[in-house]
Amino acid sequence: MSVDSFLSLLQDDKAELISKAYEKKERIYEKIVTFSRNIFVPVTHQCRNRCGYCSFVSDDSNSWITPDRLEYILMKAKNAQCDEVLFTLGEKPEEKYPSAREFLALYGYDSTVEYVIEFCNMALEEKLLPHSKIK
Ligand code: SF4
Repeated sequence: MSVDSFLSLLQDDKAELISKAYEKKERIYEKIVTFSRNIFVPVTHQCRNRCGYCSFVSDDSNSWITPDRLEYILMKAKNAQCDEVLFTLGEKPEEKYPSAREFLALYGYDSTVEYVIEFCNMALEEKLLPHSKIK
């Protein structure tokens, strides 16, 4: 299907688009369902924002996962035969909380993004695929 016909169906006939997608899925994958066992790591609940719908965010300065704690979590994930690690966190908490800046500095980082990149590298060293919600 060309991009133009896809966009046209998306605008004009979503039911047909869904039907075509389903037909293609059935043709290629039949009834196969796949999943990847993963572990969820809330790096910190602190966030510079306060989106009205968010139930994740918190002011808790003790909500940070330390590198030592992550090592333990990764070991548990390996023992549970996980393949992936999902890192979730608020957006740039260091811009709002002095405690976040202090926590990051304690481990030698200027930003949460750098901190999470290191967490991703730690996951890769354990042969776990990292997913991050870095904003
Ligand atoms: S964690 Fe995400 S959704 Fe929640 S307040 Fe921060 S930016 Fe908004």
